[in-house]
Amino acid sequence: MVADKSESGNLSEETALAKLLDQYRDENTCMVDVTKLLLNFTQLESCGKCTPCREGTKRMLEILQKICDGMGEMQDIDNLELLCRVVKGSSLCPLGQAAPDPVATTLGCFRNEYEAHIKEHRCPAGVCTAVVESHRGG
Ligand code: SF4
Repeated sequence: MVADKSESGNLSEETALAKLLDQYRDENTCMVDVTKLLLNFTQLESCGKCTPCREGTKRMLEILQKICDGMGEMQDIDNLELLCRVVKGSSLCPLGQAAPDPVATTLGCFRNEYEAHIKEHRCPAGVCTAVVESHRGG
């Protein structure tokens, strides 16, 4: 069940998104992977005019990929939260301003899944097989 509040300031947008994500997910859905897919779509749509959207979405995608690959660190969560604030607060148009919403929402409501990837080297849904393989490989 999704809580009514997320950790960032945009309660209504993020709560609505969180409820939508929660409604359509099942035990085979990895919220880190879903976040990566959603952000990838926005990143492809970015026109590149302003730096926060153009570069910030790329950096967030790199971090999400790193976590899905089993190379994540707890500092990555802090970095994602910082990037969410910067991109949302300084992008020029609504596309960039909304780009971090999936990241902020899933960090707020499904943080345990991020932490499972980083701390326990496992993907609860079994989607990110690289998490386990990277740990086995040392
Ligand atoms: S926020 Fe808008 S103007 Fe800025 S790069 Fe993204 S799409 Fe372009």
